[in-house]
Amino acid sequence: MLDDVKTIVIKIGSAILVDSQTHALREGWLDALAHDLANIEDTRIVLVSSGAIALGRERLKLTSPSLSLAEKQACAAAGQSSLTRAYEDALGQLGIVTAQALLTLNDTEHRRRWLNARSTLETLLGLGAIPIINENDTVATDEIRYGDNDRLAARTAQMIGADLLILLSDIDGLYTADPRENPKANHIPVVTAVTEDILEMGGAPNATAGVGTGGMATKLAAAQIATNAGCDMIICDGRMSGAIAALRNGAKHTFFKATSNPRKARAQWIGGALKPHGILTIDAGALKALNGGSSLLPAGVISVSGEFGKGHSVSVEFNGTEIARGLVSYDMDEADKLKGLQSSKITDVLGYDNGAALIHRDNLVML
Ligand code: GLU
Repeated sequence: MLDDVKTIVIKIGSAILVDSQTHALREGWLDALAHDLANIEDTRIVLVSSGAIALGRERLKLTSPSLSLAEKQACAAAGQSSLTRAYEDALGQLGIVTAQALLTLNDTEHRRRWLNARSTLETLLGLGAIPIINENDTVATDEIRYGDNDRLAARTAQMIGADLLILLSDIDGLYTADPRENPKANHIPVVTAVTEDILEMGGAPNATAGVGTGGMATKLAAAQIATNAGCDMIICDGRMSGAIAALRNGAKHTFFKATSNPRKARAQWIGGALKPHGILTIDAGALKALNGGSSLLPAGVISVSGEFGKGHSVSVEFNGTEIARGLVSYDMDEADKLKGLQSSKITDVLGYDNGAALIHRDNLVML
């Protein structure tokens, strides 16, 4: 299964990256992960790593088991740089370039920021780098905070159209009850739908834990996001070195099957879930280009109406009929200035360039 994956997101929890006794980074484990990753061929890889708060606690000598939000944020600030450096060192020695991306809930919930974050990640992946993502804990306040990297990893997987999300955890999958409390709990190898019954097995969120905050509840919330977005998900025990290689060799895990495929899920989101904020009317040449699978270039747009910002959903009309819907790369005023022009003129007219298309093909759905 791992061999057919085009884009994979791997989430690494604090509990497996940072030693619970010494509070030090588990360097040997990280080196083994780097080797595992170097052995994955032809797959775009994104890592979502926790550990900033756990490492920062140690650096700032904040030993109390419960920290205030401000203290956690301070720890994240002190720990994030160590975390990034550790990945840079471990992967760098194998010739892999890493890049740090710190996201907030806003970046994944607001279309414009989503598109921006997405295009940065796509660019990094296109350049062969491995983005290392964490929540921007230092600035995210409680109300706008994920707080756990399970859901952040699922949103990231959705954002880049990943086909597999692996949560490397301190447990080898989902059980009918918490196996640490109930020895009779049964392991569930495959979940084909994240139903109410499945959600109940996750219990309550583990909000008071010292280093990691996830618990099974947030992992199941992540499974809901990922599988609905067309991304399969795996929970496995990542504590031993070489966890990804072990998974390849059949290590115990729970597999959550995607209910759709990434393209279809994205098309549904753009085509159905978003309310259009404006209309771009196109000419026959553009219609032909769109039917042939191209992006919508400014040259084929005759008129622009509505009130929209960059990243908003708009309708594309030909002869009064809506033929497509998509997320625009330019706002209403900019689109109006660009209509009918060659893409090479964009910088002359606007003073900057956000891509040659008004709507990039990846953000466009034919109706
Ligand atoms: N973002 C937090 C950190 O890096 C961890 C969140 C989580 O435990 O999932 O420490």
